[in-house]
Amino acid sequence: MSDSIDNLVYGPKQPGIIIKEIKWEVNEGDLVKQSQCLCHLKYDQPETSNTLLAMVIQAPVYASKSIKIKAPITGKVKKIAPPEEIQANKVVCILEPCRHDTVFSGLCVYCGFQIEE
Ligand SMILES: [Zn+2]
Repeated sequence: MSDSIDNLVYGPKQPGIIIKEIKWEVNEGDLVKQSQCLCHLKYDQPETSNTLLAMVIQAPVYASKSIKIKAPITGKVKKIAPPEEIQANKVVCILEPCRHDTVFSGLCVYCGFQIEE
């Protein structure tokens, strides 16, 4: 298996965000399917479209966001970042791609991938 960049799961890319809450639906060692929800994330994001209001109140205006972070690949949850490391543009979770170890009737029993024989 190649060390694809897909194995790394990133948080929100926007700069200047403030993480409010992160709720994991998976644990380290869990098997996850592609596009399965890994965690729910609540954060505040600077509202760049509202510069007039920001000028009036002399502070950045934040918009509250709530997102789901989904698994980019099918595999195993290798590592979950501790809450203090959850930041914009940082890796929140590392996945290990499914190695299709157990095949039944030509299909991987973990992820359902069809194995060619
Ligand atoms: Zn598999």
